[in-house]
This record gives sequence, C-alpha cells and structure tokens, in this order.
Amino acid sequence: MILEGKIGRIIVEENAIQHLKEEVKRLNPSKVCVVTDKNVGKIWFENIFKEIGLKEVEKFEIDAGEKGKSLNTASRLWKKLIEGKYTRKSLIIALGGGVVGDVTGFVASTFMRGTYFAQIPTTLLAQVDSSIGGKNGINFHGKNMIGTFYQPSFTIVDTKFIETLPENEFLNGIAEIIKYGIIFDRKFFYFIKENIETLKKKESDILQKIVEKCVEMKVEIVVKDEREEGLRRILNFGHTFGHAIEKLSNYRIKHGFAVSIGMVMACKVAEKVTGFKQVNDVKELLEKTGLPTSTKIHIDKIVEEMVRDKKAWYGKIVLILPQEIGKVTIQEVEKDEVLNTLKDGA
Ligand code: ADP
Ligand code: ZN
Repeated sequence: MILEGKIGRIIVEENAIQHLKEEVKRLNPSKVCVVTDKNVGKIWFENIFKEIGLKEVEKFEIDAGEKGKSLNTASRLWKKLIEGKYTRKSLIIALGGGVVGDVTGFVASTFMRGTYFAQIPTTLLAQVDSSIGGKNGINFHGKNMIGTFYQPSFTIVDTKFIETLPENEFLNGIAEIIKYGIIFDRKFFYFIKENIETLKKKESDILQKIVEKCVEMKVEIVVKDEREEGLRRILNFGHTFGHAIEKLSNYRIKHGFAVSIGMVMACKVAEKVTGFKQVNDVKELLEKTGLPTSTKIHIDKIVEEMVRDKKAWYGKIVLILPQEIGKVTIQEVEKDEVLNTLKDGA
C-alpha cells in the first residue's frame, strides 16, 4: 500500500524496503546521511544500505534509548552536517525507533531551515504511530519540550525489522495498536482480540495486515488535523494518565506499558461519565497481550502529576473517554471525580 499526500509518501507493504533506492533516486539528493542508534545500526545498517546499492551514504550513530534524544545529539548531528557540506538538497534518513526518528526529524527540519528527510521506522511503536504525522522533538528540561512539525519526503514501513525487536519493545507497540481499535474502529479491536495469540507470535501475515491498518488510521486522523488542534487529540487516549505514570516511574515503565495502564483508567472513568460498558473487554485484551492494567503508583500522585501537566486546567482534567469501543469523546472531568472513581484500584 502506498499512501500519498501532505504527510509525504508512505510505503507500507511486504518488503517495502526494496523501494528505498528508487525513492532516494527520485529526490536526487546531493548527499545522504543515515542516522541510526547503536543497536539498529549493528543489525540493519550494512544489510540495507550496502545490499541495496546505496554505497555513498554516511552513517551517524546515536546512543540507544531516551538519552539519545538530547540537545547534545542534535548539536553533534548539526555539526556533522555542516562539516560534511550537507545542503538543503541533502537527505537525512532516520533508521530506528521513535528516538532516532524524533531527533533526526528535528535536526532535518532545522538544518538550513529544512533539508530532505525520510523515515525508516524499525520498532513496532514507530511503525504504527510515531513515524507517521510529522511530529519530532528532543528532551530539554522535560520530555519533548523542543520540536517541530516536519513531514518526511518518504516513509518506508517494513515489518521485517520487527523480527529482531526485543519482546518488551514489541509489546510496547501493541499497546498503541489496541488504542487505535478503541478510539477509532470497533471491528479492528475485536479482530485483534481474536488474533492476539497469532500476533504475539509475530506471524508475518497478521502483523503486516495490522500494521497497514494502523498506518491507514493514523494517516486518516493526521491528515484531518495536522497540527493537533482537534481530531488528532483522540490519539492521546490513555496518554494523559500514561505520561504521568511514565514520569512518576522515572521512565522505568515504558511508554506503551504506561499507556496500557492509562487506557484502563480512562475506561473506568468513562464507565461513570459516558456510560462506557466494555471496560472488561479492554482489560481482558491487554492482559492476554501481556500488558499491565494497573500500577502500584498511588492514584493521588498520578492525578497530581496530570494537573501539573499542560492538559489540566483549574482542577479539571481533559480526558479522551470512550463511549463505546471505536468511539471516543473529549471531555473535561473534575479532578475529584477521577480520584473518586479510581481510588482503591476500583
Ligand atoms: P520507540 O520506538 O519505542 O521510541 P526506541 O527508539 O527507544 O523505541 O527503541 C527501543 C529500543 O529498541 C532501542 O534500544 C533500540 O535500539 C532498539 N531497536 C529498535 N529497532 C530495533 C530492531 N528492529 N531490532 C532490534 N532492536 C531494535
Ligand atoms: Zn503513544
């Protein structure tokens, strides 16, 4: 499947990577730099860029994990581009997960006011979510505090990268996949529910089908609201709780795991506020997947953190709440109502 539009050209199909050479040729860049992290670089860089016949590309490796998303990394990369005489007609390719994609997109958007940029996401999370939509950023006095919206020229989503992905990182992505079902597509939710065992085995047909569907949904949402002023906010389902949980755990709880807990919390609030009835369906699926549905972190702490966060306003918290599977609303809920609903792990 090839999607095209203001989000760039997105190729998501089996063996999508075979399109890399022609995509680069089409742009005809003066130089190509591939940014990757140490893990992905080791496993995939040679494999892809040498075999495909793009021999003149340069490689820039960053530290794996969240610490790679720093001003220091951006600064080193800017310097390399300047010293290497890169221009606005050069191409910077991100080969990696969300960390690589975010910092690379940020640098590509700011170097000489923007050079060509491409994404080759290698984690499930990046493939179904963060690589699509043009958001980028670095951590600076807080997570994602500095960044831009900048669309890549092309994005290649190839599920074969998932084969080497550690189990935890795989589960991290499944949380976002389940999220799409709840916010946008009832049929898709129950399809995942029926096929969860096969998906967990990374069976390639089912994985392909699911990744394609998620990319399609994300594109549909982002195209309607590129700068996150309306519809796109539904993608934050489970994230207001999730971000607080991540932060309070000092980021020891991974994003997808925190979102999983956050989705259950949002569902429970929805049970009261919107009359949502499928909390158990959601919980059951997350449990079957192997994702957490509760945390030891006290709900008082979580709500306090949410109120501190930019999404809270005068004791009210803006939440994305399901009405039924596949349909959500955005609502302001009193802080006390959230607390009362969720205390005692209710
Ligand atoms: P996310 O997309 O969840 O933000 P990160 O960019 O933090 O993910 O990557 C998570 C971890 O997985 C990092 O340690 C990274 O090096 C590693 N990783 C990314 N893609 C692959 C892959 N295809 N195979 C093996 N490890 C990978
Ligand atoms: Zn997320």
